[in-house]
This record gives sequence, structure tokens and C-alpha cells, in this order.
Amino acid sequence: MLETDLAIIGAGPAGMAAAYTAAQSGLSVLLLDEQSRAGGQIYRDVERAANTRGHILGKDYTCGLALVENLKHERITHVTGAAVWQVGQDCELTYSVAGKACQASGKRLLIATGALERPMPVPGWTLPGVMTAGAAQILLKQSGIVCERAVLVGSGPLLYLVAAQMIRTGTAPLAIVETQSFSDMISAMRHLGGALRGWRYLTKGLALLAEIRRAGIPRFTAATSISIEGDGKAQAIRFTSAGRENRIDCATILLHHGVVPNTQISRSIGLDHHWDPDQRCFVPQTDGWGRTSLSAIFIAGDGGGIGGAKAAEIAGSLSALEIACDLGAMDKGERDHKAGRLRRALTSELAARPFIDRAYPPFVPALTPKDATIICRCEEVTAGDIRRYAKLGCIGPNQTKAFGRAGMGPCQGRYCGLTVTELLAEANQKTQEETGYYRIRPPIKPVSLGELSALAKTESAKP
Ligand SMILES: Cc1cc2nc3c(=O)[nH]c(=O)nc-3n(C[C@H](O)[C@H](O)[C@H](O)COP(=O)(O)OP(=O)(O)OC[C@H]3O[C@@H](n4cnc5c(N)ncnc54)[C@H](O)[C@@H]3O)c2cc1C
Repeated sequence: MLETDLAIIGAGPAGMAAAYTAAQSGLSVLLLDEQSRAGGQIYRDVERAANTRGHILGKDYTCGLALVENLKHERITHVTGAAVWQVGQDCELTYSVAGKACQASGKRLLIATGALERPMPVPGWTLPGVMTAGAAQILLKQSGIVCERAVLVGSGPLLYLVAAQMIRTGTAPLAIVETQSFSDMISAMRHLGGALRGWRYLTKGLALLAEIRRAGIPRFTAATSISIEGDGKAQAIRFTSAGRENRIDCATILLHHGVVPNTQISRSIGLDHHWDPDQRCFVPQTDGWGRTSLSAIFIAGDGGGIGGAKAAEIAGSLSALEIACDLGAMDKGERDHKAGRLRRALTSELAARPFIDRAYPPFVPALTPKDATIICRCEEVTAGDIRRYAKLGCIGPNQTKAFGRAGMGPCQGRYCGLTVTELLAEANQKTQEETGYYRIRPPIKPVSLGELSALAKTESAKP
């Protein structure tokens, strides 16, 4: 088994920054990521794509090159294509690379697995031709593919970014159908002070909106009654906006209403979580250094609460400083001196977040969808099924597995977990916190028998 000072899962901004800070402090670092290149969601494939598509993806994308470059540090071992599917409370990891299972352990573990797009189950969302806006961006970053005749639907700044990136490719979206309303903007106004302190985000948002306006892309706001129509594939989107019914013929529908922490690993090792009413999702419990309820395990970045890429980078560095201090590679004075500057930067990065969260809330009808809508895509369980289980006495998401297999497919509940919590909470008139979440068990990613048997052979070959 590979042994290291610090094992990190996730080579996004949080994981990359943590790896470099820890390596500079003298620690050996093992950085695992299932992607074939470092970068995470925001800087996905940046080393390869910055030259060819940097002008389309923007400066906020190409600035990730510096973080990737830092991974060349001699004390960092970056394993690409490494999908971690089991984590122990003692910082032992099992992962697969090219069909072979391997094991490693760290004196400390940092989980930097980022965010997932919040599922947006609206009628018709399982039709071919419907995907998330983030998935469309992955196609663009990784393969240079742009979706044609697309409509972006939902809420949040990522919709504007994806729209602007599509415009720059010459394949602009047909329209943006937004679910946030004027009253959301009014309620966000009480956080205007924070937004002004985080003025860079406001400026970026306004610049994106100006780009969208110049390209003549129609925007519809306060959209309700959203449904996707099509015979065997998505062919149109129907919705109501400003009191008028609209129908737009299209070939692709890109859904997005925010991102939520990816808590699969933190759940699988039984770390404490709490419900965040503002971001409407579960968040792992951490202290100011990212230390979790198990003292050798840390979480940094969007996986510990949504803050964006720069905040993730800073949080990764803060965790690494504390870990270096834990392992005797740095004294508290040096840690606090270095952390001071980082904490000030973090406060400024997070200043605009409450405004953004209020101005772009999730689309409420997609949190507790209509009965006929499929919510667990892997096992084809509908919202109506979950309500029926509640009437039969089902009180928590974990029991829905026994009632009807919700959350037991290949995604292991990543895309239905929050919807099941919301549906049960509403049906049983409990809070989301009381209702809880799925109990996540390893393997958290699909793993083949071949991979497992390769692991057994490695074990028996040991002296
Ligand atoms: C689809 C999507 C697109 C986004 N695009 C943008 C954007 O363009 N601009 C922007 O400002 N923000 C974007 N965001 C928000 C963005 O994710 C961040 O704020 C930022 O990337 C968070 O950094 P992070 O290091 O916490 O996590 P991430 O950058 O998400 O990195 C997490 C890494 O963990 C790896 N990982 C996860 N689970 C495992 C596992 N079990 N085994 C091995 N590796 C694993 C992933 O492959 C990933 O590389 C996007 C979010 C999503 C979900």
C-alpha cells in the first residue's frame, strides 16, 4: 500500500492548492482524481484547452494554468484517472486506475471532491437532448463540442457564463429561460452591502449579461410551469413567463439551478453534516481549517459548502497549513501568519455569496416535483412513488431503498438524494434536517469484479 503524509481526493482548485501548500511545507502528497487531467470543474483540461479554446472559455478559465503547473513539485504524486470508491475512517483509500484497484493511506486525508449540479427534475427532463448546463460546458472544455439549437433553463450565474461561452463559439443559445423573479432580486437587496464588497463578481455578472444582450439572445424571467416536450427526444420547451405561455422549438435543453456539495465520500465515512437553509443542501460540519468530525480528515472547497473556485483554492491552502502544523512540519506561529492573509482573502471572496444565493434561488417546483416526474433516473422512481412510500410510513431517504430502490443505481443517489429528502420532508411535514439523507455505502462508484480480484491478488502477493 502506498503511504504518504497527505492524501487528497480531487484535483480541482481546492485539492491543487492544498497539494502545493503541503508540499512546500515539506509533506509528501498523493493527489488522486478520476479525471485524465488536473483542473476540477472550473479548470477542466486547462493544460490542453487553454491554447485552443482559452479565448472562448475566458480569463477565469486560463488562470487555472498556474495551479496545474504547481503540481510538478517533486513531493506531489498526482495520479490521474484514479476513481476513489472506498474511504476508511483511518484515511485509507481504495481507488481504481485503468481497471485495476489500488490502495493508499495518508497520515491525513483531504476530501476536495467539489460540487454537483443540483438535479432539476421537470416534466420531460429524462428525454434525450436534455442535460445540465455544466455537462454542456464539459463538452466544450474537454472536446470543443458545442450544443446546437439549445435553450438554457433555470437560475444562477453559471447559465450566463455558459451562454457567453456558447456565443463566443459562434453557436449561440436560442434563449435563456430563467426561473428567478423580481421578488428574489428584491429579497437579495438586503445583502447588497456584501455584493458591493464582492464587486468583482457583480462586474463579471454584468459583463456577461451585456454580452448576452449584444448577441440578441432573448431572456425570459420568473418562468413557471416548465415542461419539456418531445417524441423520443427533446423537441421544445414550454413555460409561462410574464403571464404568457411560451413554447420554443429546440434540439437541446440545458438545465441548471445551482450547485450543491458532493457529499458522497463524507457521508460514506459517517462525518457529521447539517442542513444549510440558505443554499438548501446538506453541508459537512467543519471548523475554520476544514477539519471534520474525524480529526485526521479535512474537507476543502465546494465539497464543504459552495463558495466558488477562488474560495476553494484558499480553503485548500488553509487546510494544508493546519495539516502541516498537525504533522509537525510547521509551528503555530508560521501557520497563523500565513493563514491571516488567506482568511482576509476568503472573507472578500465570500462577501457576494449571500446576495447571489438570494438572487438566484433554486426552482422550487423542481425541488418537490409533480407525481409523474421521474426523480431517481437510475431506478425510474417517480416523485409520486416517494409520496406513496411516505403514506405507507416511510420516514427517511434510506427506507425508500427498501420501498422501491430509489438511490440504489449506479449514481448511488448523487442525483436524487436531495429530491428524495425534500419530497419526504414535505410529505411527512418534517424539516430536511429531521428527514436526513441516504446512508452512503462503498463502493461509491461502480467497480467491476475484475478490479476487486486484482486488489485481492496484490494483497496476497504481500510478504
Ligand atoms: C459541472 C460544473 C461546472 C462548473 N463550471 C464552473 C465554471 O465554469 N466557472 C466557475 O466559476 N465555477 C464553475 N463551477 C463551480 C466550481 O465547481 C467551483 O466553484 C470550483 O471548481 C470548486 O473547486 P473544488 O476544488 O472544490 O472542486 P472541483 O473543481 O469540482 O474539483 C473536484 C475534483 O474532484 C474529483 N473527484 C470527485 N469525486 C472523486 C472520486 N470519488 N474519486 C476521484 N476524484 C474525484 C473530480 O473529478 C474533480 O476534478 C462548476 C461546477 C460544476 C458542478
